[in-house]
Amino acid sequence: MIEMQGVFKKYPNGVSAINGIDVKINPGEFVYVVGPSGAGKSTFIKMMYREEVPTSGTITINGVNIAKLKMSKVPIFRRNIGVVFQDFKLLPNLTVYENVAFALEVIEAQPKFIKKRVMEVLDLVGLKHKIKMFPSELSGGEQQRVSIARSIVNSPRVVIADEPTGNLDPETSWEIMKLFEEINARGTTVVMATHNKEIVNTLKHRVIAIEDGRIVRDEHRGEYGYEN
Ligand code: ADP
Ligand code: ADP
Repeated sequence: MIEMQGVFKKYPNGVSAINGIDVKINPGEFVYVVGPSGAGKSTFIKMMYREEVPTSGTITINGVNIAKLKMSKVPIFRRNIGVVFQDFKLLPNLTVYENVAFALEVIEAQPKFIKKRVMEVLDLVGLKHKIKMFPSELSGGEQQRVSIARSIVNSPRVVIADEPTGNLDPETSWEIMKLFEEINARGTTVVMATHNKEIVNTLKHRVIAIEDGRIVRDEHRGEYGYEN
């Protein structure tokens, strides 16, 4: 469960990106976050994985108020959240296998378990045959598959994605969406900021629209609602 209460975020340069948000996201939900550029979508999402801290208000994730989380507890908290970015953010000097294994190696999981689990998630995203390749040797869609595998390798309860199809062609975007649908079908909460009108209007889920740092619309199986 993700809950925000009275959340405001003002950046050090004086920009008020989030101006009072109250929202609840239940376990297992799939939520699209939509809105114009500069509306505050990224800030909203970044606060959920504690990349940004709110200026005021509470953000409770799995029972913990992460607005008050000590720096030393942040890495432990992040293990329960998978994050997927528009630009993939893979480590260029590591292979596909190593990029995915990394998250398990830092928590010192058993080598046998790491191998089994990494192959399992790479199989899920359809990249078992490319484990020895480097990110630069893969297409954009394949790189995003690796980053999705990395996001779920720890079996997080929540996966957060910031414009995951923003750099991909339409066909590849649909393939990537299939993976998020599958991850969600297995019980993982998915929160996704997106500008992809066709996807939002076709694969129907809850839609939260943000404008000027406020929720202006929150609909069950909603529409994208913008021209683009
Ligand atoms: P969106 O994701 O909807 O495009 P953002 O959350 O990125 O919106 O941005 C919301 C507002 O906050 C914008 O005015 C943006 O310029 C500003 N902003 C975003 N990140 C920062 C930052 N690190 N420092 C200062 N201002 C920022
Ligand atoms: P897409 O059209 O899906 O974006 P690409 O045309 O970029 O795909 O790549 C097609 C195939 O070629 C992919 O399977 C990818 O792994 C492989 N490939 C792309 N770039 C390279 C590269 N620099 N070195 C080796 N293989 C590559």
